[in-house]
Amino acid sequence: MRRIQVVATGGTIASRSGAEGRRATVLAEELIASAGPLPADVEIGARDVITRGSYAFDTADLLALAREVRTALRDGADGVVMTHGTDTMEETAFLIDLAFDDPRPIVLTGAQRPFDDRAADGPANLGDALAVAADDAARGHGTLLVFDGFAFAARGVRKSDTMSAHAFTSPGRGPALRVADGRVVPLWRPSPSPRLPLDLDLPRLPRVDVVPAYPGADGLFVRASLAAGAAGVVVAAVGAGNAGPDLVDAVGEAVAAGRPVLISSRVHSGPVAPLYAGGGAELQRVGAVFADDLSPWQARLLLAAASTVPGRPPQELVRAWLAGRDPLPGAGS
Ligand code: ASP
Repeated sequence: MRRIQVVATGGTIASRSGAEGRRATVLAEELIASAGPLPADVEIGARDVITRGSYAFDTADLLALAREVRTALRDGADGVVMTHGTDTMEETAFLIDLAFDDPRPIVLTGAQRPFDDRAADGPANLGDALAVAADDAARGHGTLLVFDGFAFAARGVRKSDTMSAHAFTSPGRGPALRVADGRVVPLWRPSPSPRLPLDLDLPRLPRVDVVPAYPGADGLFVRASLAAGAAGVVVAAVGAGNAGPDLVDAVGEAVAAGRPVLISSRVHSGPVAPLYAGGGAELQRVGAVFADDLSPWQARLLLAAASTVPGRPPQELVRAWLAGRDPLPGAGS
């Protein structure tokens, strides 16, 4: 008999509609009772941590959720399923993936339609997430996000539709598993991302802001972010990793002041590279780090988490992590 711990955190899957709009109110026991079909020979534990929309989470909440996962694993669960709002699920999944290298499945899921909708998608998604968490095929995949019949590795997964039940994709990678009628079908095995020795007991992660590039974008937001105490900045660059001259200047100032800058793209799919004179090539020359195909939102968490590790420059840890190397060989969990 496998033991799966369900950790409920709110979101649309737990929401009912009311005069003021949708509100998360449904707790773990009721979610599990509605889920289906449930895998056989599985004992399911239920725990409510937060009951809120994930658009209202801050990094203190993300760390609290990662601590819940740590507790469940330490208590001997064979897998963990977290129900979560879809708006920032890709962020929580990524942070949890950074923090653990346990082979036991950690699976996030949610819904696009609320609990009291006639066509609610939450029950099937939760049933699928439980099936994945209970299946050997999901071991060693790192943290997974299960939605609409597919399981995606945390790294690279993105919410890609605001309303459709097929809400997530993993551009350039695709799903790792498929759930068909309760059966888990392996598609490909993502190579697990290295763990970052993140102290989950911190009250929150340091501030790291995402600054967009667009025609006419200047250095205002980078400088404002640093003035607000940011440990670093992620530029959501245009195209394959470019920005205009004023923004590039501000990035150079930030790096010179010891605040790392990561370059991601505002484009949905594909890696960034220092290709263009005055654009990406100049960003690299002034010391920015190119974040491969990480979305700005996941890159932001990588830099924030790396900034908490004592004794090593965060940009070095980020470079090691992006290259698939253990950022701090020998560090315990
Ligand atoms: N649209 C969201 C959801 O799916 C709201 C949230 O992120 O909580 O749950």
